Amino acid sequence: MTAEPMIDSHGDPTAAPAPVTVRASLSPSRAADFKTCPLLYRFRSIDRLPERPTVEQARGTLVHAVLERLFDLPAAARTPESAGDLVAPQWDRLVTEEPELASLFADGDTAGPQEFLRSATALLDGYFAVEDPRRLEPAEREALISAVVDDELLIRGYLDRLDVAPDGALRVVDYKTGGAPREAFEARALFQLKFYALVLWRTRGVVPRVLRLLYLKDAKVCDYAPDADELVRFERTVVALWRAIEQATARQDFRPRPSRLCDWCSHQALCPSYGGTPPPFPVAAAAADPLVDARSRPVAPGADE
Ligand code: SF4
Repeated sequence: MTAEPMIDSHGDPTAAPAPVTVRASLSPSRAADFKTCPLLYRFRSIDRLPERPTVEQARGTLVHAVLERLFDLPAAARTPESAGDLVAPQWDRLVTEEPELASLFADGDTAGPQEFLRSATALLDGYFAVEDPRRLEPAEREALISAVVDDELLIRGYLDRLDVAPDGALRVVDYKTGGAPREAFEARALFQLKFYALVLWRTRGVVPRVLRLLYLKDAKVCDYAPDADELVRFERTVVALWRAIEQATARQDFRPRPSRLCDWCSHQALCPSYGGTPPPFPVAAAAADPLVDARSRPVAPGADE
């Protein structure tokens, strides 16, 4: 398959693009899976095992949806009350689009859904404690961005929000809604943001000035300023990661790497580190289209918390 990349990764980022052959694609979520635990990557991207949504993931998806819609309102109307008013209608929309979300609560349980909506509203309070959306006009929200690196690897993902300052400076913003210990996820979150920074640099010729994580539960902001040298190194890391994934696929060898993140893994019952046995390696995996990521939308916004 031939694709038109937006930039050639080996040249001047502002130079005209040249056609290349794209062999594979990688999202930050799947790359981070492999980095965290190769077997987790296999379960999600090769076996494509289903994962039941958790209440925490659903809450993250809901809060991301509300924050996206909030910016549809005129600036002066972006108040905590307006955000609160969006919670129930957005939840109804999500349940209509993904009916399995309704199964998070038992039939006849009215208190559970109410508490769920209340906890989502509490996270929005955390958002308003660190930002005033009346003073912001995001350039992009929930935007799919992609670039080709190493002449053949398409890297792509959805960023929560991109702000562009009048001087052209870019700020990538990612909302974190999870209740997990922050240190357990910060490295994964920064990896994801650097992934976006690399795509933006390669497509726009501008290194984002700030990569911002907004932790809504703690009402905390974590800013990181990447530089071009770091993104060059990061690009090499991503390409090396992809080669390691290709090699593991060819050998059908994805080893478990236990860590604190196992507590959030849906596949412990199949993991040798927990006494389980993985299913036979799918025969079709070797022939699968490498351009088709395990999930075209890698994860629902907020579900990767
Ligand atoms: S339980 Fe832990 S080691 Fe096993 S697959 Fe999941 S993340 Fe990997």
